[in-house]
Amino acid sequence: MTKKAAKPPKKKTRNKMRTFENGNWDKYAKGDKKTVCPICKTNKPGKVVLIPIVGTQEDGNAQAEQVHLDCLDPWFDKQNRFIYQKLK
Ligand SMILES: [Zn+2]
Repeated sequence: MTKKAAKPPKKKTRNKMRTFENGNWDKYAKGDKKTVCPICKTNKPGKVVLIPIVGTQEDGNAQAEQVHLDCLDPWFDKQNRFIYQKLK
């Protein structure tokens, strides 16, 4: 019996959580109002993730909010099948 050839590595799927080394706070600023992380309410340097905003989906795209990776502290609600983080 010959050994079965090793399977080629699975094609990497795109990470849906888009992370960036730093936020692009100026790009998303509206007028004089700078955008800030909705959790810590600052735009301090650090890795950010783009979190799609519910209700903004259009043609496979959605508006998104920049959130510091370090600020994320999600919880899993098993009963309702939700992963969430309540913001103050
Ligand atoms: Zn933050």
